[in-house]
Amino acid sequence: MENTHICNMISFDNTEIAFASKSKKDLQWSYRLFKMIGKPWLVNLGGWFQKVAFALHLPVKGIIKRTIFKQFCGGESIQDCDAKIKHLGSFNIGTILDYSVEGKDSDQDLDSTKDEVIETIKTSKANDDIPFAVFKPTGICRTDLLEKANKGEAQLEGQYAKDWEVVMTRLDDICKAAHEAGVPVFIDAEDSWFQDAIDRMADAMMAKYNKDAAIIYNTIQMYRHDRLEFLKVSHQAAIAGGYILGVKLVRGAYMEKEREKAKEEGYPSPIQPTKEATDKDYDAAVVYMLENIDKIHFCAGTHNEKSSQKLAELMTEHKIDPADKRVYFAQLLGMSDHISFNLAHAGYNVAKYVPYGPVKEVMPYLMRRARENTSVAGQVGRELGLIIKEKKRRRK
Ligand SMILES: Cc1cc2nc3c(=O)[nH]c(=O)nc-3n(C[C@H](O)[C@H](O)[C@H](O)COP(=O)(O)OP(=O)(O)OC[C@H]3O[C@@H](n4cnc5c(N)ncnc54)[C@H](O)[C@@H]3O)c2cc1C
Repeated sequence: MENTHICNMISFDNTEIAFASKSKKDLQWSYRLFKMIGKPWLVNLGGWFQKVAFALHLPVKGIIKRTIFKQFCGGESIQDCDAKIKHLGSFNIGTILDYSVEGKDSDQDLDSTKDEVIETIKTSKANDDIPFAVFKPTGICRTDLLEKANKGEAQLEGQYAKDWEVVMTRLDDICKAAHEAGVPVFIDAEDSWFQDAIDRMADAMMAKYNKDAAIIYNTIQMYRHDRLEFLKVSHQAAIAGGYILGVKLVRGAYMEKEREKAKEEGYPSPIQPTKEATDKDYDAAVVYMLENIDKIHFCAGTHNEKSSQKLAELMTEHKIDPADKRVYFAQLLGMSDHISFNLAHAGYNVAKYVPYGPVKEVMPYLMRRARENTSVAGQVGRELGLIIKEKKRRRK
């Protein structure tokens, strides 16, 4: 019995499948890049250097585009991403076009981000290799307004109330376009001081557009200690409202920031006390969603091998076919290919976030990816370790 169980388990050890999409030259190139960004001092220096270089209009764009941008981004525009979309598609991996321009606050910029997201929805409609669209709420709403709305939209007054109406129109424009095109859209989760407002936006859109299919997906961050309960409450609301709950499940990306702000402002941290507590709630959420799969369609956004393995196993236990579109796995482009490619090879639904945008504008995103891949205490990082393993295998 135990043996059968092990045989059925999906394995992420197969670097041949993981890197089948990379030529010898590509692999060597990724090796050099991850070796370089493995050095924390170099990443810090690089972060400082790129800011100065852009400020002085030095010609650094080409270098960035040929190195770190090439690893983690699809291109500068939707059309630029074509080759990447096709390439991933040929390995049964979907693309989620993620317009990664951040920190824009003027109405003109927020409108143009909305238009861009609608373009990704239109592109997705015409292309089976793009299963979802995505957007960040701070891409369509000023942060000061979102923070105010978090405390209750009814309390907004004067210009704030007027601006909020404009935001709700932007939101509805995106969700309506997604509904009309039949393209599901993820609403990314952000800092807790915005998230109540985002949750209400997502709930309202799900109630409106998820009657027949999961078109709108909210994101739930399991590093928050209140989110397992939130998932259950959202599920009950979906039952009462007669709609399908769409969930992108993640652990959460802003832990340090959350803890710092809570400490500074003297309120209890919304973050779980330990990684184990986050993992426990993440696992419990997966089980809960599988048990309620008729009403909850979800995507597991994770680079955690165990979580991905466990979900695949639980799908078998719940007699859910790997190709069942109600369950998706997702990773970021340029990371955890051993998870994405092995899952896709075994017939599971997999998609990669493919960030794109002008080089200068996606720098904050790229610097976060670089920092994530710096080595801890001289150890070889996971991505680099896998590349070294595959290089050795190919030499045999
Ligand atoms: C496709 C995709 C979409 C994503 N979308 C979003 C999004 O919309 N919003 C968002 O916030 N994040 C998002 N993320 C990022 C995600 O939340 C995680 O930060 C990242 O994936 C790392 O978690 P993991 O499950 O991959 O891996 P792991 O390495 O297993 O987990 C690391 C995570 O565990 C948690 N953690 C670590 N240490 C502790 C501790 N001491 N106490 C409590 N918790 C701890 C943190 O959340 C940390 O990021 C997305 C990730 C992917 C792959």
